[in-house]
Amino acid sequence: SGTLFLVPTPIGNLDDMTVRAVKTLQTVDLIAAEDTRNTQKLLNHFEIETKQISFHEHNTQQRIPELIAKLQSGLSIAQVSDAGMPSISDPGKELVAAAIAANLPVVPLPGANAATTALIASGLAPQPFMFYGFLPRKASVQKAELTKLAQQEQTVIFYESPYRVAKTLTAIQAIFGDRQAVLARELTKLHEEFIRGSLSELIDWAFESARGEFVIMVQGADPVAPVASDVPLVDQVQALIDNG
Ligand code: SAM
Repeated sequence: SGTLFLVPTPIGNLDDMTVRAVKTLQTVDLIAAEDTRNTQKLLNHFEIETKQISFHEHNTQQRIPELIAKLQSGLSIAQVSDAGMPSISDPGKELVAAAIAANLPVVPLPGANAATTALIASGLAPQPFMFYGFLPRKASVQKAELTKLAQQEQTVIFYESPYRVAKTLTAIQAIFGDRQAVLARELTKLHEEFIRGSLSELIDWAFESARGEFVIMVQGADPVAPVASDVPLVDQVQALIDNG
């Protein structure tokens, strides 16, 4: 049977296409793309002539049986999204699950991803971190999600559309308090920039000048000191001995 390759594409800088990604897109039988017109530009740039088929959030259910049948017949398929890693806040996971269920080989390629690229230059703790992706937009649902996240001691990473960054930062600050945070703007592009500060400072900045694509990263909650009554007595005694 054929292999399903998961192929990352650049998040703004064409030079971030890996040699292996180009070779894979060249040699597979078919490319399943989130937006075939968008991907065609990438294929033209790298002189790749492989045929495409659309695979996006609105045709996932009808396409999956078709793609699985092609894989079973021996064709190899590369799945790509518009930018970065497939499945990461992008189409892909249902196809991967279906391929695994059908016992078909799934091969992921490493490559561009906005979240981890932002994280390593943020200055915030790189681990543990929690990748959240896009918050729900409905205010009540968003608030419930943020309330759960507020207790996390891990760095939290959000994606957001350019038009909603200031509003989303305001919602985060209302629940998280005024923590340290970082905005990574236009990664890998001409106007790449990191804005670091308290959430209230970033909100002021965002209302003034938020343009382009953003990753939002927020410092984790301060570790909660254990309450004395939660600590078993033997440990309390041991702590007294240790501390002289
Ligand atoms: N699959 C992609 C990945 O692996 O990063 C993410 C796709 S998601 C639909 C798009 C979101 O990712 C944007 O709204 C933004 O939050 C983030 N993003 C993508 N490219 C970016 C860039 N060049 N700079 C900053 N954020 C970016």
